[in-house]
Amino acid sequence: MSFVLDPTVLREYDIRGIVGETLTRDGVYAIGRAFGTIVARDGGKTVAVGYDGRLSSPELEEALVSGLTACGLTVYRVGLGPTPMLYYATHVLDTDAGVMVTGSHNPPEYNGIKMSRRGSSFYGDDIKALGALAAKGDFETGEGESQHRPVADDYVKRLLRDFREGTPLKVAWDPGNGAAGEVLQNLVAALPGRHVLLNENIDGTFPAHHPDPTVEKNLDQLKDAVRRERCDLGIAFDGDGDRIGVLDGRGRVLWGDQLMVILAREVLEDLPGSTIIADVKASQVFFDEIKRMGGKPLMWKTGHSLIKAKMAETGAPLAGEMSAHIFFKHRYYGFDDALYTAVRLLSILGTGDESLSDLRDRLPQMVNTPELRFGCPEDRKFDVIEEVRDRVKTLEGVEVNGIDGVRVLCEDGWWLLRASNTQAVLVARCESKNEAGLSRLKEALSRQLRQSGLEPPDFG
Ligand SMILES: [Zn+2]
Repeated sequence: MSFVLDPTVLREYDIRGIVGETLTRDGVYAIGRAFGTIVARDGGKTVAVGYDGRLSSPELEEALVSGLTACGLTVYRVGLGPTPMLYYATHVLDTDAGVMVTGSHNPPEYNGIKMSRRGSSFYGDDIKALGALAAKGDFETGEGESQHRPVADDYVKRLLRDFREGTPLKVAWDPGNGAAGEVLQNLVAALPGRHVLLNENIDGTFPAHHPDPTVEKNLDQLKDAVRRERCDLGIAFDGDGDRIGVLDGRGRVLWGDQLMVILAREVLEDLPGSTIIADVKASQVFFDEIKRMGGKPLMWKTGHSLIKAKMAETGAPLAGEMSAHIFFKHRYYGFDDALYTAVRLLSILGTGDESLSDLRDRLPQMVNTPELRFGCPEDRKFDVIEEVRDRVKTLEGVEVNGIDGVRVLCEDGWWLLRASNTQAVLVARCESKNEAGLSRLKEALSRQLRQSGLEPPDFG
């Protein structure tokens, strides 16, 4: 049996599509066969499988498990929960691979699959190879089996193991009806302090709002709760619990790079001089503050699989992205777990003497644009980056970093232009110490785009 997957579902970091249209039950079975074949041919025997709270997830999980067992593998079914719980299962059950059925933060009609093998992400060329294998129908065949292996209770215990008790806090939580809801209820029941839960019941129709905490309007409900209940902070998760959103006691958002600075201090006290990684979209504040605390800041490419790989290579104990994937290797496994990140943050705040608002205000204040995304033809996007890079290199008084796109550091601050790995989109961001500097940076970036024949985005 062979199966040609819709080419749009095979993405850079995962598989994702519209259920019943681009991503069907048969397609997911074929993905199970193809992934299972890759694992089996590499000598693997066991795979852990989990699924998120989407309406289509149980059915797709079944199809996936059938595909994997048909390759002769033993499948441990950990059930419904957040993506980090599945990653946790691959460690404690010591499996050769892990597969999560999840559409992450996307609308209800979507679903997808995230895969890992031997603790590393399965992405890029791995996913292309999987598609080719499915199209050929070149599958391993064997008689595997599946077993129910719930890990939710152990997972919560593991999260709690790194909690340090201090002053009890008042916390508002919003898992957005996503897959972390149930685990979260068990977690907060064991934590001291007062906890206000919003949208904690898992509901794949996402009735309250989109489960994406990196879009500020999705935090409105949490902001209201933090202010109304006078909470010390608010914490939100995305649909599958691998990304975090944090609000201080005044309802102000702490973006991924700010959060990293606050989380890094404890790590650097324990492991002085270690490398802390952030992606190219991160504020200069991150790089300056990590250095000031005696750490080695490292700027790396955007994309959670790429950050994870760099982390393994450098032995960095902490890494994170603006998109709020935060990876702790310090005392933990090194995968992106928003619940674990929350536990670490609560420990820092409870045992410290500063509120999250104070910590936030103590960071150097910058003016910056959010991440601006605008369309650019797929066949032009990488050329545009190269043209811009060649031009800015000849400018005086600038430092050019080409690690992922072009990041230009100058007197006024910095600007970034990079091509999305997953869409026909360019991404821009600028940051300066003041408004006048920021407008000059926007102007410089717009000029570069025009010279490459593109209309600059509306910087707002
Ligand atoms: Zn996610």
